[in-house]
Amino acid sequence: MFQDSYGQSSFFRKTPHTMRAQPHGSHFINGEFLEDDSGKAFSSAYPATGEIIASLTTASTSTVDKAVAAARAAQPAWAAMLPAERGRILRRAADIIRERNQFLSELETLDTGKPLQETLVADAASGADCLEYFGGIAASITGQTIELGGSFAYTRREPLGVCAAIGAWNYPIQIACWKAAPALATGNTVVFKPSELTPLTALKLAETFKDAGLPDGVFNVIQGAGETGAALTTHSDVDKVSLTGSVPTGQRVMAAAADGLKQVTLELGGKSPLVIFDDADLDNAVGAAMLANFYSSGQICSNGTRVFVHSSVLPTFLDKLKSRAVAITLGDPMDMNTQMGPLVSAVSAKKVLGYIETGLAEGAELITGGHCTDVVGCETGTFVQPTVFAGVTDDMTIAREEIFGPVMSVLSFETEDEVITRANSTEFGLAAGVFTKDITRAHRVAAALEAGIVWINAYNLTPVEIPFGGVKRSGIGRENGLAAIGFYTQEKSIYVEMGDVDSPY
Ligand code: NDP
Repeated sequence: MFQDSYGQSSFFRKTPHTMRAQPHGSHFINGEFLEDDSGKAFSSAYPATGEIIASLTTASTSTVDKAVAAARAAQPAWAAMLPAERGRILRRAADIIRERNQFLSELETLDTGKPLQETLVADAASGADCLEYFGGIAASITGQTIELGGSFAYTRREPLGVCAAIGAWNYPIQIACWKAAPALATGNTVVFKPSELTPLTALKLAETFKDAGLPDGVFNVIQGAGETGAALTTHSDVDKVSLTGSVPTGQRVMAAAADGLKQVTLELGGKSPLVIFDDADLDNAVGAAMLANFYSSGQICSNGTRVFVHSSVLPTFLDKLKSRAVAITLGDPMDMNTQMGPLVSAVSAKKVLGYIETGLAEGAELITGGHCTDVVGCETGTFVQPTVFAGVTDDMTIAREEIFGPVMSVLSFETEDEVITRANSTEFGLAAGVFTKDITRAHRVAAALEAGIVWINAYNLTPVEIPFGGVKRSGIGRENGLAAIGFYTQEKSIYVEMGDVDSPY
């Protein structure tokens, strides 16, 4: 066991946090931490205070090669292992993650700036659920038998080989688990590259896997920015690339993967609609709209950032929304009372504040928020207030582009047909929501919305049992649910002749 501190429930609470999160090494390859003297130095900072919490190096080409070689070498034995045994290791890892949840959540909070009250329930915990789910079904993944009138065929679900997995910074350990769990359950090996902004919890996941009995080389972590991701994507010994990131990165990854005809799973951005009809339970609708825009300071791909509200309930909706939004507590993310933390970086904050200015300039009506809040002790973090614009029209920039911050656009509508057309009038198609008490309308609208997932009278719930992914420019492929199995395996058909060969020659 690498761990010597997991048992302490508040290892990171004491300030300063400086370097308390330092990992045993920047990279984890073949069951060991290592440094790369030829890599570039970079550091991870706590977004709330700017404190450096760990110093690392990026992977040079030789480290990328080493990680892929380790994954390649480990893959045949891992694939040959009894699926039930593979599953047992994943479920053991899930149990260990739950035991370490406090530690992992505090580390995730330091790395991302998300409030501890969120990370304790939504990050490592959901990663554990995913490992448990795919560990549970590993032994039940089968092909099919096809009767051919005497002869027959059967299919085998075979692993793809070495999977490169590249993560975004908003849900680092969850993304690592969402990719690793189905890949490993089906007999693949993985090289994971977290975002350079949030490099730490993927290394803890690698440690946890080792402690759970995962053979060396099956799950590897390398650090670096886009160029490391690109080196993995173009690597001749990588068979599949799974990316969570923005649309432009997805396009680059898909284009690079095309050269080697590699399979890709792309979980990309969104500008999702949340439609609230006049018969909706407005308190629930307001709660969902807030979850859909303010959780993780709005840094969630599936957020319902275009909130369409029927004109007859719009004033009441806005009143209720405003009174609840102003009550949100912004503060130090490590404080359990804090409901919203800072944005992940100054670059991100500048972009989000720029969108707020654009919203005002284009004539949207600011209902609440729109500014930054100063938080004592966290002077370098940018804490953007929960922001609501009303009077937003479809052509406004804030209604068209992904902001990735706590900025909600409220739009008014009159009819069902109209709102469906407007909701679908976007290049994205990740998620959508509909609030109504009319069950036939709920299902009719859910069917008509162009999205990979639609919530009826809820928003942003992503239990591992249901497939998750986008349509249109929001992505390709599905994570979670049984659907994910198809994206980490290839189906081999085997024809069995039971009679003589019928040959005309
Ligand atoms: P980016 O697209 O900037 O980065 C995603 C990952 O790709 C990072 O690890 C990044 O490295 C890496 N990367 C960058 N360039 C390349 C390249 N050319 N080849 C391979 N890898 C590369 O996204 P963000 O990290 O900023 O995350 C925010 C975006 O992610 C938003 O658009 C959001 O909607 C989307 N997202 C989608 C989710 C989904 O499930 N659909 C979930 C979460 C986020 P580095 O960052 O170190 O430079």
